[in-house]
Amino acid sequence: MIFTNDTEASLGFAAALADTVPEASDSGDDELSTPAQLTALLDAWRFSGRRDGDDRELIEVRSARSRLRALWLLDRDDAVDEVNDLLVDARALPRLVRHDDLDWHIHATEIDAPLARRIMVEAAMAFVDVIRADEMARLRVCDADDCESLYVDMSKNASRRFCSTRCGNRMAVRAYRARTA
Ligand SMILES: [Zn+2]
Ligand SMILES: [Zn+2]
Repeated sequence: MIFTNDTEASLGFAAALADTVPEASDSGDDELSTPAQLTALLDAWRFSGRRDGDDRELIEVRSARSRLRALWLLDRDDAVDEVNDLLVDARALPRLVRHDDLDWHIHATEIDAPLARRIMVEAAMAFVDVIRADEMARLRVCDADDCESLYVDMSKNASRRFCSTRCGNRMAVRAYRARTA
């Protein structure tokens, strides 16, 4: 195990949110354009706590998405500054909680804090683990030249290059064509 279960889940959600931008989404569209799309994403990841379901919340989450994409690509020391800022700004206060069918895990915001703040703090807490484990190199962006998808490389020797087999295959075909052209 590289990270704890809740850190892995938080990173998975962060990447899924970040990958709703057109240059990373499966459809090629912005997949976070409506409150309904946000609801579907939260449901898919069983993201708990307050939801307003309005345009203001959507706008805040969209701006969290941009900040998250930037954080993902920072080097370790710059990520430390950003994570510390996030935690201070949100007045994060870590505590262990158990809810639904989830075992003890960390929450650092109140369950009724605005969604975008809870998303950023949850991501920041996951980054605390990643940085302490010195595993920032596992937070990657797809190597395919037409894909900006973020992913966590959980492979044994941290050697994964593409977000998906779809991208891997597409780039292999392209490389093959280039060689035989
Ligand atoms: Zn929870
Ligand atoms: Zn990709």
